[in-house]
Amino acid sequence: MGTDRIRKVVVAGGGTAGWIAASTLAYQLREQLEVTLVESSAIATVGVGEATVPPIRNYHRFMNIDEQEFLRAVAGGFKLSISFENFVRPGHRYIHPFGITGKGTLVAGFEQFWLESVRRGMQSELHEYSLEAMASLADRFAIVDDPKINYAYHMDAALYVKFLREKFQPCGIRQVEGKIQQVRQNPDSGYVEALVLEDGQVIEGDFFIDCTGFRGLLIEQTLKTGYEDWNHWLPCDRAIAVQTRSVDPSPVPYTRAIAHEAGWRWHIPVQHRVGCGLVYDSRYMSDDEAQAKLLRDVGAEPVKDPWQVRFRTGRRLKAWNRNVVALGLASGFIEPLESTSIHLAMSAVMKLVELFPSEGIPDSLVNLYNDTCRRELEHVRDFIVLHYHANQRTEKMWTDCREMKLPDSLQLRIDAWRDRAYVWYEPGELFATTSWIHVLLGQGIVPKQHHPLPRELSDADLRRLLDSIRGPIERTVPQLPPQQAFVDRYCKAAPGVWDMHRPAA
Ligand SMILES: Cc1cc2nc3c(=O)[nH]c(=O)nc-3n(C[C@H](O)[C@H](O)[C@H](O)COP(=O)(O)OP(=O)(O)OC[C@H]3O[C@@H](n4cnc5c(N)ncnc54)[C@H](O)[C@@H]3O)c2cc1C
Repeated sequence: MGTDRIRKVVVAGGGTAGWIAASTLAYQLREQLEVTLVESSAIATVGVGEATVPPIRNYHRFMNIDEQEFLRAVAGGFKLSISFENFVRPGHRYIHPFGITGKGTLVAGFEQFWLESVRRGMQSELHEYSLEAMASLADRFAIVDDPKINYAYHMDAALYVKFLREKFQPCGIRQVEGKIQQVRQNPDSGYVEALVLEDGQVIEGDFFIDCTGFRGLLIEQTLKTGYEDWNHWLPCDRAIAVQTRSVDPSPVPYTRAIAHEAGWRWHIPVQHRVGCGLVYDSRYMSDDEAQAKLLRDVGAEPVKDPWQVRFRTGRRLKAWNRNVVALGLASGFIEPLESTSIHLAMSAVMKLVELFPSEGIPDSLVNLYNDTCRRELEHVRDFIVLHYHANQRTEKMWTDCREMKLPDSLQLRIDAWRDRAYVWYEPGELFATTSWIHVLLGQGIVPKQHHPLPRELSDADLRRLLDSIRGPIERTVPQLPPQQAFVDRYCKAAPGVWDMHRPAA
């Protein structure tokens, strides 16, 4: 057991992760903790991170955040899916929708019935049984309950930080501006005791959350925790980001991920602009080529100069080391293809609240926390590697990905799907079976056989089952408005909300 009672928590870093950490701890444990957040306007945040996944709504419920207030503050919109374009081969597209596709039984998911229908020559696509996919393809959105729609958000990253700060600072967060120059450790235990700022201020604490981004000022530069590199599975190591004017009269209710010869490009609409970026493998594309390609392909006028981000995919060997927990980019990064990083920070901070070591730091909790984070990250990693691996493209980066040796856990997933259309879900995993199925099929992995159970159904019964799912979706989608109309009515940001933001220098 290390340290005594934990009262003073210091969050280092004021990006999205820092404000998520400080807000959550101050809001949930406000009577027991003094929370200080140290940030430096001289060190810019990464400035991206605008697409989310549906569990953000659980986090917001946990924090009592009102959806409309949040969306107005972040000039946000809705996300029903990700459209994967050119990933399998140029010209190919598939949708990875949120929500549940169809309805199965306890032992055979809906996909087994659909696969059986395909075997019998009945013509349909799996996405026709997903409300979120069909609404995405029709560019429509509304919050509906029957059938229930599942969604996440697109948001302005800088406005989200501002929103959290304004909403949760009154819960007692002490905000200190200044550059951390030194991290002071206890000479015996190695525990962090204080942050020393450039202007001489000393910020003491019992427990520290490292949210300093890729630098990992406490977790790595001070505690030398170590990093497991996943670059051999996830080859992209740089991104160029830019923001452009919106040219679509109604922004699409999904994130676009568009593959290119050495990576992919994102397209994330928010109310006042579009966030775009080119992710690339620097072995096969130079920075100049990437920037020129991005500006050529976005097809709209930039409203901000492009900026580059370099990254190494992987994970910190221990997210919690001594009295330091790393959150956000400081804890590791799996590239942004499925918009998972903000979710991982939220999920980790909720776990930390669940295990909060108020009376000292037992090894049992540290080990449990680290193990949970590792499993969660490896699961997300496998899912993203799948998108790279199962492709039919011809360029070197893609053929290398096709031929690489996969993590055993992913190979098992692919084999079980290919051999008998088997997918499974383990508690705590972000991606449900529906996600795996859409991406496995979308990336072109077709199972050799499926479950025998649906063979019990006659053609008429099978058709009736499929129609009972497709029918309500077909009736609902045309009644949904274009996303813009829904946003205008539900959560339109006040004019100029975005101008009030002063980004870090
Ligand atoms: C290309 C790219 C695209 C992404 N897209 C998505 C996405 O669509 N969805 C998603 O969920 N996530 C995405 N992410 C991840 C997401 O951007 C991050 O998870 C999120 O922004 C959190 O970042 P952070 O707060 O950990 O780090 P940062 O934003 O880097 O913040 C670090 C903070 O630490 C402070 N700091 C650093 N050093 C010091 C010092 N010495 N003294 C004082 N302060 C210091 C900085 O001032 C800053 O406030 C993306 C990431 C990348 C690289």
